[in-house]
Amino acid sequence: MLPSGNNVDDGAERNSEMADFSNSLNEDQITLQKWVHDFAEKVIRPAAHEWDEREETPWPIIEEAARAGLYSLDFVASMFADATGVSTPMVMEEMAWGDAGIALAIFGTTLGVAGIFANGTPEQIGEWLPQCFGTPEKVALAAFCVSEPDAGSDVSSMRTRAVYDEARDEWVLNGTKTWITNGGIADVHVVVASVDADLKGRGQASFVVPPGTPGLSMGQKFQKMGIRASHTAEVVLDDVRVPGRCLLGGKDRLDERLARAREGRTGSRSQAAMATFEKTRPAVGAQAVGIARAACEYALDYAKERKQFGRAIIENQAIAFKLARMRMMTDAARLLVWNASWRGASGAGFEAAEGSQSKLFAGETAVHVTDEAIQILGGAGYIREHPVERWHRDAKIFTIFEGTSEIQHLVIARAISGVHIQ
Ligand SMILES: Cc1cc2nc3c(=O)[nH]c(=O)nc-3n(C[C@H](O)[C@H](O)[C@H](O)COP(=O)(O)OP(=O)(O)OC[C@H]3O[C@@H](n4cnc5c(N)ncnc54)[C@H](O)[C@@H]3O)c2cc1C
Repeated sequence: MLPSGNNVDDGAERNSEMADFSNSLNEDQITLQKWVHDFAEKVIRPAAHEWDEREETPWPIIEEAARAGLYSLDFVASMFADATGVSTPMVMEEMAWGDAGIALAIFGTTLGVAGIFANGTPEQIGEWLPQCFGTPEKVALAAFCVSEPDAGSDVSSMRTRAVYDEARDEWVLNGTKTWITNGGIADVHVVVASVDADLKGRGQASFVVPPGTPGLSMGQKFQKMGIRASHTAEVVLDDVRVPGRCLLGGKDRLDERLARAREGRTGSRSQAAMATFEKTRPAVGAQAVGIARAACEYALDYAKERKQFGRAIIENQAIAFKLARMRMMTDAARLLVWNASWRGASGAGFEAAEGSQSKLFAGETAVHVTDEAIQILGGAGYIREHPVERWHRDAKIFTIFEGTSEIQHLVIARAISGVHIQ
């Protein structure tokens, strides 16, 4: 029978048949959500304007997050361990609802952590992950250094080189990385470098550069449009020597992989890297959802308060319909994010690049929704006394980093077609 939409008995019957499917959060997740939301509301949001203006890393807020237990290896590990996959995007959404720049200042470390986790041996994971966070008394940060001036979307054209010095069992890194979150201020830098330039993307490896290693320095610190509490800078590698054990995955595994690539055999590594991106992109999309939700709420409140022509502006369909659409898109983005995150965590797998879909849709939604929020506030939306112009500036990065919107389209199009679309 087709659902009639208004027959209560039919509905009850269907509910019992579909009882296994649920979007509702469990007790632990509700508690977690409330805890993170409280932190975002009481600590992050009140500080957002100040750190956006200062364009500096908000160390006191990171330290407070560490003291609260939010910025710690244990917390991040428990978030990732949730088999439903929902905890990570939920936390990211709440934090970015508070402020996306500060959220990235706190959780930018997880980019480096993910790099170690994806490529490291269990010993390397055990050695380096605690050092990425430090302790509440002395917090540490990590950075993930891939992008270069001539290698952004096209990572395979990377120029940073890693050369093995067999006599000393050391790797020597040279090159310049750009637009690196926490670049140069991080304690642990994870650097992707080419070990065999002829093999392009298949000749690359990841290295941990331990705290205080000579030769690694911060180049230019960038002044940005948005997420200005998050530090972004060049990382210069000038004859940086790291012990052999800093090659993530180890030398034997690298040699095997290079041998396979030289023989023209396609390794499973590129597929594994794609799968890793599909798993991490929903967490980025979730931050965009957080910004969009903040803008929806703020614009709705304003539209109910603001009076023109003797009535609240929300009484005009032109405004109310915008708000309806903003809410719909934000909720749809969250569903895509949660679905992709669940697929990654539960092992359900990806069929149509759902991770990329979620990041693409959420990023573009955040840009659109924050733009509409400015419009709803009129002149007030354009000035810095209200946060919506900041949210719009913050939202834009979500169509650029972690793969631009164009690259996400490419990934999705390839996944659904099986055609290598250029
Ligand atoms: C604030 C910030 C933080 C960042 N943090 C990090 C970090 O921590 N670590 C890190 O490694 N990187 C980081 N990045 C870099 C980021 O990942 C890159 O900016 C991004 O991958 C895009 O590369 P690009 O800027 O060189 O753009 P380009 O690759 O030059 O792209 C320019 C335009 O061309 C389009 N384009 C390129 N190729 C194609 C194609 N094949 N088909 C269609 N369109 C295409 C792009 O979509 C884009 O619109 C950060 C960037 C910013 C701005």
